[in-house]
Amino acid sequence: MSDLSRRSFLGGLAAVPAAGCAQLFADPDPAPATATRAGRRPVVIASGNGWWPEPGRASAVETAMKVIRDPARMAKRYGLLEAVVEGLAVQEDDPTDHSVGLGGLPNEDGVVQLDASVMYGPTHQAGAVGALENIQNPARVAMSVLRYTDHSFLVGKGAYDFARAMGLPHTELLTEEARQIWLYWRQKHSENDDWIAPPDDEVPQAIRDQVTWGTIHVSAVAPDGSIACGTTTSGLSWKIPGRLGDSPIVGAGMYCDNDVGTAGATGRGEESIVNCGAFSVVDNMRRGLEPQEACLELLKRLATNAKKRGLFKDGKPTFNISFYAARKDGAYGSACLVEGNEFAVIDGDSPTGRREKCGWVYDK
Ligand code: ASP
Repeated sequence: MSDLSRRSFLGGLAAVPAAGCAQLFADPDPAPATATRAGRRPVVIASGNGWWPEPGRASAVETAMKVIRDPARMAKRYGLLEAVVEGLAVQEDDPTDHSVGLGGLPNEDGVVQLDASVMYGPTHQAGAVGALENIQNPARVAMSVLRYTDHSFLVGKGAYDFARAMGLPHTELLTEEARQIWLYWRQKHSENDDWIAPPDDEVPQAIRDQVTWGTIHVSAVAPDGSIACGTTTSGLSWKIPGRLGDSPIVGAGMYCDNDVGTAGATGRGEESIVNCGAFSVVDNMRRGLEPQEACLELLKRLATNAKKRGLFKDGKPTFNISFYAARKDGAYGSACLVEGNEFAVIDGDSPTGRREKCGWVYDK
């Protein structure tokens, strides 16, 4: 199948039996109304940190779209993947985004370990790196794994040595602000160790209030329907050294199929891994679900599986996770487990990006 027309998607939807749908959507809560958006190619969709309302501030979706709208750049090999990687680099290079790249929050030892993966639909190739230290742009390294090796995943020192061989500079990624946030966590962490926390009024609010999760995912569909995607992160802060989340796992943190569409995740990575998150969302679109429905169906399954392990308090999840999806025809959608998240998008000939609210399973 070289292209999926709207008609064939509707045909696919009809093939999902109504009773099957009801079963899929019965538990744990009824879904909010599903938003269906007509496709406008090209489209770039990202997690909420993929677009900023401040005038003039660079954003991942606009940076990626600029490359996509440049025919000379798109004519190059892997041009669309380059667009995705340049978009991801906007946040990797931003020291104020503590969820990714430079300024990312470290592991429990105070060491920043980065994870990333990318996938290129036209050749169905992927590249990934995990627990990578001292390299600011792990998505760029993941793309080099894809382009210049016969492997798909490098980790730790091997990934670092490979990145250096590719010419990427050695960089201290722990910024002063990130170090202070880590130190405050370390001091407050336990009463059973020898650290003593300073009184709260000696610690700036900005250090005390830090959100300790985040990541950026970018998915792109080109004017001709080609697809690429990528996810890059510093992972869960204070993680056990060496821990990998979903972001570098192909099929969990991101996945695309050039015949169908693309998806990615941010949030509680362990839950995405055990449910093959991004792969499942793309597979749901293959079966005919609209992009947002595809995310919601997977989230409900994920919630049911989490419940089996007793991860819920008062019937609601103790964590959140978001999925982002775009279909080959340019239709897009997103959903999170617990209400409140937004995603970023730019499509068609829109001059700027924008944020939209994710669908959700559980009310806040
Ligand atoms: N998914 C990332 C991880 O588990 C973290 C996040 O997106 O907040 O490493």
